[in-house]
Amino acid sequence: MAEVVAPAGLALQGVGEAAEVVEGVWQIKLPVPFPLGFVSVYLVDGADGWTLIDAGYDYPPAREAWESGALAAGCDLSRDVAGIVVTHFHPDHVGAARWLQEVSAAPVFMMEAEIPFARRLWGSPDAGPFVGLLVRHGMPPEMAQTAAEAMRSGLPLPEEILPLQPGEKVPMGDGSARIIHAPGHADHQLVLHDEGRRVLYAADHLMLGITPNIGTWPETEPHPLARYLESLGSMRGLDADLVLPGHGPVFRDLDGRIGELVEHHAERLETMRAEITAAPESAYAVSRKLFRGALTLQQQAFALAETLAHLDHLVLEGRARSLEGAPVTYEAS
Ligand SMILES: [Zn+2]
Repeated sequence: MAEVVAPAGLALQGVGEAAEVVEGVWQIKLPVPFPLGFVSVYLVDGADGWTLIDAGYDYPPAREAWESGALAAGCDLSRDVAGIVVTHFHPDHVGAARWLQEVSAAPVFMMEAEIPFARRLWGSPDAGPFVGLLVRHGMPPEMAQTAAEAMRSGLPLPEEILPLQPGEKVPMGDGSARIIHAPGHADHQLVLHDEGRRVLYAADHLMLGITPNIGTWPETEPHPLARYLESLGSMRGLDADLVLPGHGPVFRDLDGRIGELVEHHAERLETMRAEITAAPESAYAVSRKLFRGALTLQQQAFALAETLAHLDHLVLEGRARSLEGAPVTYEAS
């Protein structure tokens, strides 16, 4: 699919560096220890202090980038932070929240439903259900065990996390931003709409050059792709002319990107349906055909979760059925 939505030409700094994207809003590209390259966090200036959006992955290079990036923006992390909003539970977003809270003594906020979920997942990690899901859908057991164990290790969270509700307005610099529930990539992901600045902090919901992983994981609520597409649709026409995502370039054409993402998933659904037309196949077998190349075990687990979300969507739409068995297989209908 040809990209038609262009980057905004802002925030062209390198990984580890900070840049102002709108007056009073800074972006730091924090390094992450995986192929994605960086996660973007945002600092919003206000009379009562800075609001930080997302914390990044917690390891020394990211802490260094936080310190130098905040300094460049004019924010003293130990004195000037009013609050820290975390968009979702993934380690590249919530990872450094505990450290940031210790450094800044500022409150950390997440979507209310995300808090007990993140505490359970990262506080008492259990690879068992994840291994079970991967094997049930066709991944060889040894691979599944290794992949799941690598992805379900513990993660220290802030002692206290305060709840946010969808629709709630939170202070953001000298204005405010509305919390929008944006499920699909994570069940309780939030994005923030700053109507005054006409800016959408889009987390991993809407990115350019990258399609967010919409996957079925052992703990995922039913039908993640349907909820993702519905959420995307509800954001059409949102009053925002700058989108500040969690990864990849900053861009302006929100509706254009929504259209591309909807089209991407429609194409992917078609491709998968074609794959299971001749004979039933497991989600793992389909994922190996769709996501080619030398993938790490973790990437293969991501590919399987993503394939499963799409096959589930085909079943939901009546375009496929699932057949019980070891493994479970899917067949076009
Ligand atoms: Zn992310």
